Amino acid sequence: MIAHIPLSKPTVYLTFDDGPGRYTQDIVEILDKNNIKGGFFWVGQNLKTEQQSIFAKKMLENGHIIGTHTMHHEKLKKKPKDVQVQMIRASTDHISKKIGAPIYYFRPPYGAIDQNTLVASKETNQILAYWNVDSLDWKYGDKPDLIMNNIAKEVKPGSIILMHEKEQTVKLLPKVIELLKQKGYDIAPLPVPDSGKKS
Ligand SMILES: [Zn+2]
Repeated sequence: MIAHIPLSKPTVYLTFDDGPGRYTQDIVEILDKNNIKGGFFWVGQNLKTEQQSIFAKKMLENGHIIGTHTMHHEKLKKKPKDVQVQMIRASTDHISKKIGAPIYYFRPPYGAIDQNTLVASKETNQILAYWNVDSLDWKYGDKPDLIMNNIAKEVKPGSIILMHEKEQTVKLLPKVIELLKQKGYDIAPLPVPDSGKKS
């Protein structure tokens, strides 16, 4: 006889766009302190220095995920498919080389996509990582309650939460983590596809 079957814990994913930049380290430190893995969608042109590469490699070792957000944060929508492929590939090549690891995830700037973007993601072996919770942290920097409300209202099991590498996000992140834990969520890294190389 069974009287109770515990469900596996509902899980959500924290993602941070538009880095790397001056707040990357702060965000990673907060995540690491809480033993939480984040997904970072970096703009290729922001990733330049040797120091950034070294830090990125440490992030990967600690289980964070680094994806691409194109080279120059340009819209893909309405561009020919081959142009979109080229835009994605230029950024995965660049970032991958800098961080010494393959890129599995692509997030389109402004969330602006069309049918060609879906095809281009496939052709470049990228998982198109959208989101279903927009924290609007970029918009409400001076209204932290609104950001918290957005997340609290929209989050559900499986949610991918969109945030940005911004000062206000650094300030709010501990509260966001607390809120999600209170709601009973596990916070997990975006799953890395099985390359078939693992034993
Ligand atoms: Zn962006």
